[in-house]
Amino acid sequence: MSESLYTEIIIDEGKNPQNHGTIENPDISHHDSNPTCGDQITLQMSIKDELIADVKWHRHTEEGKTAEDRNKNCTICMACTSVLTQMIKGKDLDYARNLKKEELLSELGLEYLLKQSPIRIKCALLSLKVLKFGLYSYLAKKLKDSSSLDNLKEEAAHLY
Ligand SMILES: [Zn+2]
Repeated sequence: MSESLYTEIIIDEGKNPQNHGTIENPDISHHDSNPTCGDQITLQMSIKDELIADVKWHRHTEEGKTAEDRNKNCTICMACTSVLTQMIKGKDLDYARNLKKEELLSELGLEYLLKQSPIRIKCALLSLKVLKFGLYSYLAKKLKDSSSLDNLKEEAAHLY
């Protein structure tokens, strides 16, 4: 692993990740993991008037053991999750739905990972994957029509 992975923002956000915690009765809650590294994220959102009113993330699907073991996610994963949650909080669902991996990576100075590190890119983009899948399942439930659902699945499949 190259030391240049750890830009200043990665170190800062990784040490003190924002929006860590849980939301009671979230409108969206989605969990996924990155087996090659051991990262796990549950991302929760409450939606009000098409806006992401609140967003929190934690490691586990189970209640109770969340706060203390966030550091088991790697620094890149934590930094990206922290920055992603700050980017989408207060924004509308369309913004989150259209958010591109390049935009998240450029916030962190990590665009080069796309070409150089197929393994670390999964750490960086796990949060975005969880966001998109959570969002798509929420929208699919709301739309209740199968052609829109197919389109959403198609979109989700081409994330990265
Ligand atoms: Zn990782």
